[in-house]
Amino acid sequence: MAGGKSQWFRYGLSALWFSGVARALAPLLAGRGAILMLHRVQPARAADEFAPNARLSITPEYLDALLTSLRRDGIDVVQLDEAVARLTRATARRFVCFTLDDGYRDNLSHALPVFRRHGAPFTVYVTTGFAERTHAAWWCVLEHVVARASQVRWLGPSGEQQFDTSDRGGKERAFAALSECFMALPVAEVGPALAQLTAAHGLELAALTGADFCDWAQVRALHAGGAAIGCHTVNHPVLARESLATARHELSAARVTLERELGGAAGATHLAYPYGTREHAGAREFALARELGFATATTTRKGALFPEHAAHLTALPRVELTPSFADSTHYVRTILSGLPLLAWNRGRRGVIQ
Ligand SMILES: [Zn+2]
Repeated sequence: MAGGKSQWFRYGLSALWFSGVARALAPLLAGRGAILMLHRVQPARAADEFAPNARLSITPEYLDALLTSLRRDGIDVVQLDEAVARLTRATARRFVCFTLDDGYRDNLSHALPVFRRHGAPFTVYVTTGFAERTHAAWWCVLEHVVARASQVRWLGPSGEQQFDTSDRGGKERAFAALSECFMALPVAEVGPALAQLTAAHGLELAALTGADFCDWAQVRALHAGGAAIGCHTVNHPVLARESLATARHELSAARVTLERELGGAAGATHLAYPYGTREHAGAREFALARELGFATATTTRKGALFPEHAAHLTALPRVELTPSFADSTHYVRTILSGLPLLAWNRGRRGVIQ
């Protein structure tokens, strides 16, 4: 196995990193608890590898260390339903919920074994179009295309663009430029644009999605292994930019599909808004989720959970776990600054709206 030494170095960094997260959790847990947001759990990749989505991954070793420490500190790991119950129970112990967005295959292969070893529950928010292979995650497809190609051609809204992707720097620039294009596209245009891009580079879209995302058998295996399965729309749109009819369909059709695939009893009653910042999901989406009967819905806005959130269950904040030491120090500073609490106290309920 290559890079044994650097791997130990990374484990060391993980430990350092983890101590930073532990410090960050202390003030957060001045609230009743927190919902943690993860995406992928997979082994560390070589430092020189083109991995523009690396920010979405933590390692199984890091997850293991975090769960060990939470137990040591007397912080319970609970499901979202239990979190809701504890919001208004003054005597409840502090808690965190683990939530993993999008439905990546590594949630089954790498995250589930760690969670099981610790007896810790977690929720995977599945994007049904990814599991069905009827839609694709543009950020993953772009990584595959740019990693393989030495030149990328893209016919976007502003005409044809060419990128030299023969070296690492070129790949980084192409990925950044293309990401901006895809982030701005209406959801109906994302699929055709990805199909065009992959076909132009001799790649098959469904196969690329299959490399990254669970199919239904794998989602069922996650569920059978103890994961709660939540809803993350059909096509991962920026809900706030779509029509009300499209937004409604994205939420309700995804839920119907999840209930069909998992059996009605599984009840996909928890939702995470794609992207989830203020500009991606707002008051209209929070009301829609409530109207459609979701028990909770989570954003990506930073913050802990307070009793007041019991009245805003479709606008819950989360705390993102990121992989790098540099990011974590930023995160620690943000949390320690008291910003989430300040926002809350401004009266505009900044952590909610
Ligand atoms: Zn997502």
